[in-house]
Amino acid sequence: MLKVKDLTVKYGVIEAVHGVSFEVKKGEIVSLVGANGAGKTTILRTISGLVRPAGGSIQFKELELTKTAPQKIVAAGLSQVPEGRHVFSGLSVMENLEMGAFLKKKNQDSKRVLQEVFERFPILADRKNQDAATLSGGEQQMLAMGRALMSEPDLLLLDEPSMGLAPIFIKEIFDIIQEIQKQGTTVLLIEQNANMALSIADRGYVLETGSLVLSGTGEELLASEEVRKAYLGG
Ligand code: ATP
Repeated sequence: MLKVKDLTVKYGVIEAVHGVSFEVKKGEIVSLVGANGAGKTTILRTISGLVRPAGGSIQFKELELTKTAPQKIVAAGLSQVPEGRHVFSGLSVMENLEMGAFLKKKNQDSKRVLQEVFERFPILADRKNQDAATLSGGEQQMLAMGRALMSEPDLLLLDEPSMGLAPIFIKEIFDIIQEIQKQGTTVLLIEQNANMALSIADRGYVLETGSLVLSGTGEELLASEEVRKAYLGG
Protein backbone atom coordinates (compact mmCIF):
# COMPACT_ATOMS: atom_id res chain seq x y z
CA MET A 1 0.00 0.00 0.00
CA LEU A 2 2.88 2.38 0.84
CA LYS A 3 6.39 2.03 -0.59
CA VAL A 4 9.11 4.41 0.56
CA LYS A 5 12.31 4.13 -1.49
CA ASP A 6 15.70 5.77 -0.89
CA LEU A 7 14.10 8.70 0.88
CA THR A 8 16.49 11.55 1.69
CA VAL A 9 15.30 14.70 3.46
CA LYS A 10 17.33 17.83 4.14
CA TYR A 11 16.69 20.92 6.20
CA GLY A 12 18.99 23.42 4.49
CA VAL A 13 22.41 21.78 4.54
CA ILE A 14 21.50 19.33 7.30
CA GLU A 15 20.46 15.88 6.09
CA ALA A 16 17.90 14.52 8.57
CA VAL A 17 16.95 11.32 6.68
CA HIS A 18 19.52 9.35 4.65
CA GLY A 19 18.19 7.01 1.95
CA VAL A 20 15.47 5.27 3.93
CA SER A 21 13.41 2.46 2.35
CA PHE A 22 10.48 0.58 3.86
CA GLU A 23 6.99 -0.57 3.05
CA VAL A 24 3.58 -0.98 4.60
CA LYS A 25 1.30 -3.69 3.23
CA LYS A 26 -2.46 -3.56 3.26
CA GLY A 27 -3.91 -4.58 6.63
CA GLU A 28 -0.68 -4.28 8.61
CA ILE A 29 0.35 -2.28 11.63
CA VAL A 30 3.92 -1.21 10.93
CA SER A 31 5.89 0.57 13.66
CA LEU A 32 8.82 2.87 13.02
CA VAL A 33 10.70 3.28 16.28
CA GLY A 34 13.69 5.35 17.24
CA ALA A 35 15.03 7.82 19.76
CA ASN A 36 14.21 11.49 19.93
CA GLY A 37 15.62 13.25 16.84
CA ALA A 38 16.10 10.06 14.80
CA GLY A 39 13.99 11.51 11.96
CA LYS A 40 10.65 9.82 12.58
CA THR A 41 8.51 12.96 12.37
CA THR A 42 10.42 14.12 9.31
CA ILE A 43 9.58 10.87 7.49
CA LEU A 44 5.94 11.15 8.47
CA ARG A 45 5.63 14.76 7.35
CA THR A 46 7.29 13.84 4.05
CA ILE A 47 4.74 11.06 3.50
CA SER A 48 1.91 13.55 4.20
CA GLY A 49 3.35 15.98 1.65
CA LEU A 50 4.14 18.66 4.24
CA VAL A 51 7.91 18.35 3.70
CA ARG A 52 9.45 17.75 0.27
CA PRO A 53 12.38 15.32 0.07
CA ALA A 54 15.77 15.92 -1.53
CA GLY A 55 15.57 12.47 -3.12
CA GLY A 56 13.71 9.20 -3.31
CA SER A 57 10.11 8.23 -3.89
CA ILE A 58 6.97 7.48 -1.90
CA GLN A 59 4.36 5.40 -3.65
CA PHE A 60 0.84 5.19 -2.19
CA LYS A 61 -1.57 3.16 -4.30
CA GLU A 62 -0.94 4.65 -7.78
CA LEU A 63 0.20 8.08 -6.52
CA GLU A 64 3.73 9.45 -6.18
CA LEU A 65 3.34 11.39 -2.93
CA THR A 66 6.50 13.46 -3.26
CA LYS A 67 4.73 15.26 -6.11
CA THR A 68 1.22 15.35 -4.65
CA ALA A 69 -0.39 18.21 -2.68
CA PRO A 70 -1.19 17.38 0.98
CA GLN A 71 -4.96 17.80 0.53
CA LYS A 72 -4.92 15.40 -2.44
CA ILE A 73 -3.00 12.90 -0.32
CA VAL A 74 -5.74 13.00 2.33
CA ALA A 75 -8.43 12.69 -0.33
CA ALA A 76 -6.60 9.63 -1.72
CA GLY A 77 -7.07 7.87 1.62
CA LEU A 78 -4.08 8.71 3.79
CA SER A 79 -4.58 10.66 6.96
CA GLN A 80 -2.25 11.73 9.76
CA VAL A 81 -2.58 12.20 13.52
CA PRO A 82 0.20 14.67 14.31
CA GLU A 83 2.55 14.60 17.26
CA GLY A 84 1.09 16.62 20.14
CA ARG A 85 -2.47 16.03 18.76
CA HIS A 86 -3.01 19.67 17.60
CA VAL A 87 -6.70 19.74 18.33
CA PHE A 88 -8.33 23.09 17.56
CA SER A 89 -8.95 24.89 20.83
CA GLY A 90 -11.86 27.33 20.80
CA LEU A 91 -13.75 24.77 18.70
CA SER A 92 -15.97 22.10 20.19
CA VAL A 93 -15.22 18.39 19.97
CA MET A 94 -17.92 18.12 17.29
CA GLU A 95 -16.45 20.99 15.26
CA ASN A 96 -13.00 19.39 15.48
CA LEU A 97 -14.43 16.17 14.06
CA GLU A 98 -16.23 18.06 11.30
CA MET A 99 -12.89 19.61 10.28
CA GLY A 100 -11.65 16.06 9.72
CA ALA A 101 -14.45 15.40 7.24
CA PHE A 102 -13.55 18.49 5.23
CA LEU A 103 -11.43 16.47 2.80
CA LYS A 104 -13.68 13.45 2.72
CA LYS A 105 -13.87 11.08 -0.17
CA LYS A 106 -16.59 11.59 -2.75
CA ASN A 107 -20.08 10.47 -1.74
CA GLN A 108 -19.03 9.77 1.82
CA ASP A 109 -21.85 9.79 4.29
CA SER A 110 -20.43 12.07 7.01
CA LYS A 111 -23.28 11.40 9.44
CA ARG A 112 -22.64 7.66 9.38
CA VAL A 113 -18.88 8.17 9.78
CA LEU A 114 -19.44 10.54 12.72
CA GLN A 115 -21.67 7.92 14.31
CA GLU A 116 -18.92 5.32 13.90
CA VAL A 117 -16.34 7.63 15.48
CA PHE A 118 -18.68 8.24 18.43
CA GLU A 119 -19.17 4.49 18.81
CA ARG A 120 -15.42 3.92 18.89
CA PHE A 121 -14.80 6.86 21.24
CA PRO A 122 -17.91 7.19 23.44
CA ILE A 123 -16.16 9.86 25.53
CA LEU A 124 -16.16 12.13 22.47
CA ALA A 125 -19.92 11.74 22.15
CA ASP A 126 -20.32 12.63 25.83
CA ARG A 127 -18.18 15.73 25.35
CA LYS A 128 -19.24 16.73 21.86
CA ASN A 129 -20.24 20.29 22.80
CA GLN A 130 -17.22 20.92 25.01
CA ASP A 131 -14.25 23.08 23.92
CA ALA A 132 -11.52 20.67 22.73
CA ALA A 133 -8.99 22.52 24.90
CA THR A 134 -10.78 21.33 28.06
CA LEU A 135 -10.16 17.63 27.29
CA SER A 136 -7.43 15.66 29.06
CA GLY A 137 -4.34 14.55 27.12
CA GLY A 138 -5.72 11.08 26.52
CA GLU A 139 -9.07 12.47 25.37
CA GLN A 140 -7.32 14.91 23.03
CA GLN A 141 -5.40 11.98 21.54
CA MET A 142 -8.75 10.23 20.96
CA LEU A 143 -10.15 13.38 19.38
CA ALA A 144 -7.13 13.69 17.07
CA MET A 145 -7.57 10.04 16.07
CA GLY A 146 -11.32 10.48 15.60
CA ARG A 147 -10.71 13.56 13.47
CA ALA A 148 -8.27 11.62 11.26
CA LEU A 149 -10.79 8.76 10.92
CA MET A 150 -13.49 11.17 9.69
CA SER A 151 -11.91 11.04 6.21
CA GLU A 152 -12.17 7.21 6.30
CA PRO A 153 -8.50 6.66 5.50
CA ASP A 154 -7.13 3.43 4.07
CA LEU A 155 -3.82 4.25 5.77
CA LEU A 156 -3.61 6.02 9.11
CA LEU A 157 -0.32 7.61 10.18
CA LEU A 158 0.13 8.10 13.91
CA ASP A 159 2.95 10.24 15.31
CA GLU A 160 3.84 9.41 18.94
CA PRO A 161 0.31 8.71 20.21
CA SER A 162 1.70 7.74 23.64
CA MET A 163 3.52 10.99 24.21
CA GLY A 164 2.78 12.62 27.55
CA LEU A 165 0.07 10.10 28.48
CA ALA A 166 -0.28 8.12 31.71
CA PRO A 167 0.29 4.34 31.27
CA ILE A 168 -3.43 3.56 31.58
CA PHE A 169 -4.28 5.88 28.67
CA ILE A 170 -1.36 4.54 26.64
CA LYS A 171 -2.79 1.04 26.98
CA GLU A 172 -6.24 2.27 25.95
CA ILE A 173 -4.89 4.13 22.91
CA PHE A 174 -2.90 1.10 21.75
CA ASP A 175 -5.96 -1.16 22.18
CA ILE A 176 -7.92 1.26 20.01
CA ILE A 177 -5.17 1.23 17.36
CA GLN A 178 -5.53 -2.56 17.17
CA GLU A 179 -9.30 -2.26 16.85
CA ILE A 180 -8.87 0.25 14.03
CA GLN A 181 -6.64 -2.27 12.24
CA LYS A 182 -9.17 -5.06 12.77
CA GLN A 183 -11.83 -2.94 11.12
CA GLY A 184 -9.72 -2.71 7.98
CA THR A 185 -7.51 0.37 8.29
CA THR A 186 -3.77 -0.06 7.69
CA VAL A 187 -1.59 1.72 10.27
CA LEU A 188 1.88 3.26 10.23
CA LEU A 189 2.86 4.05 13.79
CA ILE A 190 5.80 6.24 14.75
CA GLU A 191 6.92 5.88 18.35
CA GLN A 192 9.67 6.41 20.89
CA ASN A 193 7.84 3.92 23.11
CA ALA A 194 9.37 0.93 21.32
CA ASN A 195 7.97 -1.61 23.74
CA MET A 196 4.31 -0.73 23.16
CA ALA A 197 4.72 0.04 19.46
CA LEU A 198 6.48 -3.24 18.64
CA SER A 199 4.18 -5.34 20.76
CA ILE A 200 1.18 -4.46 18.56
CA ALA A 201 3.12 -4.33 15.25
CA ASP A 202 3.02 -6.93 12.50
CA ARG A 203 6.37 -5.56 11.39
CA GLY A 204 8.72 -2.84 12.53
CA TYR A 205 11.74 -0.79 11.60
CA VAL A 206 14.34 0.82 13.85
CA LEU A 207 15.57 4.26 12.86
CA GLU A 208 18.83 5.70 14.16
CA THR A 209 20.07 9.21 13.28
CA GLY A 210 18.25 9.24 9.96
CA SER A 211 19.00 5.67 8.82
CA LEU A 212 17.14 2.38 9.21
CA VAL A 213 19.32 -0.06 11.15
CA LEU A 214 17.00 -3.02 11.81
CA SER A 215 13.76 -4.50 10.54
CA GLY A 216 11.68 -7.55 11.33
CA THR A 217 8.40 -8.69 12.75
CA GLY A 218 7.32 -6.90 15.94
CA GLU A 219 8.11 -10.06 17.86
CA GLU A 220 11.59 -10.45 16.38
CA LEU A 221 12.50 -6.86 17.13
CA LEU A 222 11.19 -7.04 20.70
CA ALA A 223 13.36 -10.11 21.26
CA SER A 224 16.44 -8.65 19.58
CA GLU A 225 19.42 -7.93 21.79
CA GLU A 226 20.16 -4.64 20.02
CA VAL A 227 16.62 -3.32 20.48
CA ARG A 228 16.52 -4.43 24.10
CA LYS A 229 19.79 -2.68 24.87
CA ALA A 230 19.05 0.52 23.00
CA TYR A 231 15.34 1.03 23.72
CA LEU A 232 14.04 -1.28 26.35
CA GLY A 233 16.59 -0.87 29.12
CA GLY A 234 18.53 -4.10 28.50
P1 ATP B 1 11.00 13.57 17.86
O1 ATP B 1 10.61 12.30 18.51
O2 ATP B 1 11.65 14.54 18.77
O3 ATP B 1 9.94 14.18 17.02
P2 ATP B 1 12.07 12.52 15.48
O4 ATP B 1 12.68 11.18 15.45
O5 ATP B 1 10.69 12.65 15.01
O6 ATP B 1 12.18 13.14 16.89
P3 ATP B 1 12.68 14.65 13.69
O7 ATP B 1 11.79 15.61 14.39
O8 ATP B 1 12.25 14.12 12.40
O9 ATP B 1 13.04 13.44 14.64
O10 ATP B 1 14.11 15.33 13.52
C1 ATP B 1 15.21 14.73 12.82
C2 ATP B 1 16.36 15.72 12.73
O11 ATP B 1 16.01 16.83 11.91
C3 ATP B 1 16.76 16.30 14.09
O12 ATP B 1 18.16 16.43 14.12
C4 ATP B 1 16.10 17.67 14.09
O13 ATP B 1 16.84 18.57 14.87
C5 ATP B 1 16.13 18.04 12.62
N1 ATP B 1 14.98 18.91 12.26
C6 ATP B 1 13.68 18.60 12.39
N2 ATP B 1 12.88 19.59 11.92
C7 ATP B 1 13.73 20.55 11.48
C8 ATP B 1 13.54 21.85 10.89
N3 ATP B 1 12.30 22.32 10.63
N4 ATP B 1 14.64 22.55 10.58
C9 ATP B 1 15.89 22.06 10.81
N5 ATP B 1 16.13 20.86 11.36
C10 ATP B 1 15.08 20.11 11.70
